[in-house]
Amino acid sequence: MPDPPAVWGTMDDEIDDVFATAAMRTPAPKDSFPTDERPAREVYQLVRDELLLDGVARMNLATFCTTWLEPEAAQLMADSVAKNIIDKDEYPQTAEIERRGVALVADLFHAPDPAHAVGTSTTGSSEAAMLAGLAAKWRWRAKRKAAGLDDSKPNLVCGSVQVCWEKFARYFDVELRQVPMPSGFLLTPEDAVAHCDENTIAVVATFGQTFTGLFEDVAGISAALDDLQQRTGLDIPLHVDAASGGFVAPFCAPDLEWDFRLPRVKSINASGHKTGMAPLGSGWAIWRERADLPDELIFDVNYLGGDMPTFTLNFSRPGGQVITSYYLFLRLGRTGYAKVQDAAYTVAQRIADGVRDLGRFDLVFDGDPSRGIPCITWRSADGDDAILFDLATELRARGWLVPAYTLPADQDARAVQRVVVRHGMSVDMADLLLADIRRSLDSLAKVPAGMHMPSSESTGFNHDAVPRVPLS
Ligand SMILES: *Cc1c(COP(=O)(O)O)cnc(C)c1O
Repeated sequence: MPDPPAVWGTMDDEIDDVFATAAMRTPAPKDSFPTDERPAREVYQLVRDELLLDGVARMNLATFCTTWLEPEAAQLMADSVAKNIIDKDEYPQTAEIERRGVALVADLFHAPDPAHAVGTSTTGSSEAAMLAGLAAKWRWRAKRKAAGLDDSKPNLVCGSVQVCWEKFARYFDVELRQVPMPSGFLLTPEDAVAHCDENTIAVVATFGQTFTGLFEDVAGISAALDDLQQRTGLDIPLHVDAASGGFVAPFCAPDLEWDFRLPRVKSINASGHKTGMAPLGSGWAIWRERADLPDELIFDVNYLGGDMPTFTLNFSRPGGQVITSYYLFLRLGRTGYAKVQDAAYTVAQRIADGVRDLGRFDLVFDGDPSRGIPCITWRSADGDDAILFDLATELRARGWLVPAYTLPADQDARAVQRVVVRHGMSVDMADLLLADIRRSLDSLAKVPAGMHMPSSESTGFNHDAVPRVPLS
């Protein structure tokens, strides 16, 4: 930086306007570790400003995750910043609140004995899925060993699952028997059974499918596995991935049987930070009963003082997510959750009606609470998938993230487009979105097909580089 003119007197980073300071006049180091300190005020401004280039979280209609928190919930997160959930001796009330959280979620999912529920909080459904998958693998292996049978070829049967199950299978050496997506999008009971054999550690049913928002037919799959057991003796446990459905169906479709009411369901994962409305980093893994979680997977740690069983992939982890989840359970109760989720379904159905009225799209899922989560998915009526991707690009210019993506292993490789409606979206916002969809389609009609810039080039966002990313 050249010397400042003499008339300025001394430069004083303490009192100068933050944008007149050295931090704002020279580029921040990007690839080498900085040598010198800088004042907190300047660096805070610098970092905060850089984040302006991220999308607006609440206009990200791709994510299932929480983007709106009550002030009290945000305050509890801040209050809990030093609480390490693994340190159950130092923070016994955080540990007790986690225990209660597990019991409340187990009760919500109709576990037979919620007061003695077996489960843990996690960083999200992915960690919960790893733990449930491991428990299933260990149970299967113990059974095989006891019978003197080969235990080297475990497999897991599922439909079009979220990437966490592909990770589980690869990280923990389990063959993933993924049934290709049928025309109805969801794993059918017949397909599930047809892929099972003596080496199947579990079938995973997705309750709130990532790609469409639809609920898989857990009860139907369970009944088909009952029938398989009667015919062949094969007793295959069912795990339910209720990452997004777990905190809507209990309130908005309470008669739908998808949980521990089905005796074959041995474990369930749910993301607290999706429809549970908790801050990011919150999930739950719950087992039906004690016998479903093998002892070998539980570690007793004594070096923090006290003797505490743990079953997680992390060690140190923030406690605020569990504390804030507990706050939300107390704050809302069943009635409060039902009201919030019902409002989300109302918004979803309004968007569904608006999209239907455009006359160009077929709804794959219309946000019906008995069939899926508050979400709408559509495809183009005339088979022209480019319109979906062009529409996504146009909407991004207005700040909306409405992803278009091809379906996995779909016979006809068609694309769909999806809007997830979350806590924090009003009917007014839905109308603004619909107005932008209409405006975008009008402007696209004036441009020859295929002439639109890919979204990453036109906006600087690069969420599409890995197609899975928007499909959280
Ligand atoms: C989001 C999601 C996951 C992964 O959950 P995280 O909480 O993001 O780790 C797994 N399965 C399904 C069906 C999901 O929707």
